[in-house]
Amino acid sequence: MKIRTRFAPSPTGLLHIGGARTALFNFLFARHHGGQFLIRIEDTDKARSTQEAVQVILDGLEWLGLTPDAAPVFQSKQEARHVEVARALLAQGRAYECYCTPDELREMRETAQAEGRPPRYDGRWRDRDPATAPAGVKPAIRLKAPREGETVLEDLVQGTVTVSNSELDDMIILRSDGTPTYLHAVVVDDHDMEITHVIRGDDHLTNTFRQIQIYHAMGWELPKFAHIPLIHGADGAKLSKRHGAVSILEFREQGFLPEALCNYLLRLGWGHGDSEFLSRDEQVKLFDLDGVGRAASRMDYAKLTHLNGMWLRCADDARLVADVIARLPEQCGVTVNNGLADKLSRLMPGLKERAKTLLDLTTSSAFLSRQVPLDIEPKALALLTTEARAMLGRLAPKLAATDFSLAELDATLRAFAEAEGLKLGQVAQPLRAALTGSTMSPGIDETLAALGATESLARIQAVI
Ligand code: GLU
Repeated sequence: MKIRTRFAPSPTGLLHIGGARTALFNFLFARHHGGQFLIRIEDTDKARSTQEAVQVILDGLEWLGLTPDAAPVFQSKQEARHVEVARALLAQGRAYECYCTPDELREMRETAQAEGRPPRYDGRWRDRDPATAPAGVKPAIRLKAPREGETVLEDLVQGTVTVSNSELDDMIILRSDGTPTYLHAVVVDDHDMEITHVIRGDDHLTNTFRQIQIYHAMGWELPKFAHIPLIHGADGAKLSKRHGAVSILEFREQGFLPEALCNYLLRLGWGHGDSEFLSRDEQVKLFDLDGVGRAASRMDYAKLTHLNGMWLRCADDARLVADVIARLPEQCGVTVNNGLADKLSRLMPGLKERAKTLLDLTTSSAFLSRQVPLDIEPKALALLTTEARAMLGRLAPKLAATDFSLAELDATLRAFAEAEGLKLGQVAQPLRAALTGSTMSPGIDETLAALGATESLARIQAVI
């Protein structure tokens, strides 16, 4: 049997991190078993679905590298098929027409509530002859759900879950306006797409018991179900805006790498020994549903940031250079000139050592394209005392006499410090302040070499 999974977002909002993790688990599970990963856009709620949201979801998945094995299926396009299955169930006597008016249904709900019962449909049209239907009322089609016994689900994450069939009422599969309901459409689509494993958030667990009845009524084979726990904020509450970034693309804005986010989301609620840092290949190799825990996980932004720093350090320099150059104008208000890519490439190994996000990396790269005289941060300014400026005045000609290679710069700085009776840091710190306007940068030799002789000397000259 070829394993086929699907991620089935509703385009009524953003792709949030819970959805992204569901997509990731579906993707990894399919890949691990040599199967296929599909996407279905559940756009049947026409009033709330937007094309913009579809695009945001697809962009988010692409950014995360969760590429499906076929073009996305749009649920709204399958409507005729959903209707066909509902009609087939009706023809087989597994469903029936219900002519209740909205007023009757409201009354039924209110009575149930008043009597402290859950508001369920009472089945009044289940065995009634449609010939007795009131004139002018269009019927809805309801599934004849079993009334006795129980439905048992062997969930791959939740274990065995049992619900008494008396808890289920006869749900509508086709509304009186002829449109299929969402619960029904999902079953038909999963069947038609030959989905073998439905991996989704555990907020869908109760739906599953209703959906199973449709599979049974159609005589279709059930897929395996895995309901994965939701992600909560660090305080244990449902994740929301106030916990920080929630939409996947916001993480991109905030300078996270997609690899880091996937790695983090995987480790959140799935365990494999102590290994924290896993490449996509390792993830595919190791992932299976038996490692998924049952408890809700808590989003920990500090941990994600730490992991992001690890991923930054092993990211390809050319990619980081391109990303920083794209961010610099807006984030730091600097103009990007021709020589910048080259300077950044030389300095990237040192810059990425010190950054946790692409935002940090961009901020710490900005000095390369600033104009003389630089704006100098207060902390850096404090290092540029009268003595320090005089010291830089004596150092400048020595630097000017070098070829600005790392070896010569290093030897010159050491010899200068010794001659001045200073430690290397006492020379490097004010020099760094003059060159970068800040107190942090990669090694001083690398910084000088990346800026080059003309620019370095002009920056030193500006503070002396
Ligand atoms: N469309 C549903 C959602 O976005 C998912 C349904 C499913 O996975 O079966 O929550």
